[in-house]
Amino acid sequence: MAAKSGLRVYSKRRNIKKSGEPAGKRPKKRSGTKKPIFVIQKHAASHLHYDFRIEYNRVLKSWAVPKGPSLNPATKRLAMVTDDHPMSYAKFEGVIPPGNYGAGTVMVWDIGTYKNIKEKNGKAVSMRECFKRGTVEIFLSGKKLNGGFALIRTGSDGDHWLLIKMRDEYASARKNPVNTEKKSALTGRTMAQIKKDAQDGGS
Ligand code: MN
Repeated sequence: MAAKSGLRVYSKRRNIKKSGEPAGKRPKKRSGTKKPIFVIQKHAASHLHYDFRIEYNRVLKSWAVPKGPSLNPATKRLAMVTDDHPMSYAKFEGVIPPGNYGAGTVMVWDIGTYKNIKEKNGKAVSMRECFKRGTVEIFLSGKKLNGGFALIRTGSDGDHWLLIKMRDEYASARKNPVNTEKKSALTGRTMAQIKKDAQDGGS
């Protein structure tokens, strides 16, 4: 099944009663911060990856980034489109039990807000237009990541994108937060602690 817009595919792929994940509902009105949110979830599924999600039209547009974000503008990270996720997924942390889609530990690795910074000829470009053109440029204000990141669609199937750090004061060829930041931005837990808490009957 190819990744599709809207939450129907999200709901179809999983049994949320068994998986413990949020229901695939789109709120009629958005609540919370004025600024749109982003979240990066570290997901130890069959292959460890980072799910990069940004709010758009009351869902979380999502990409799976196998190697996670890099702060080095010279490093292009593959980002594969995955299904839109519900807004409430942004604070989902826990263990998806064996036998369920995406089984494994999920950590809220980073969370915060973003700003669309895409311009053309000095004029702001809407997110809608950015998605249409396959060139998203956003400024992240997270607990771990800050600064501009570009998501660039590549190839013809629509699912292959690249996640690239934009050149600004937050760029670094030396820092590697994917390796050095090992705790949840939400709960301060490590992947092992999240797993243990789930085994002990918590979440
Ligand atoms: Mn995932």
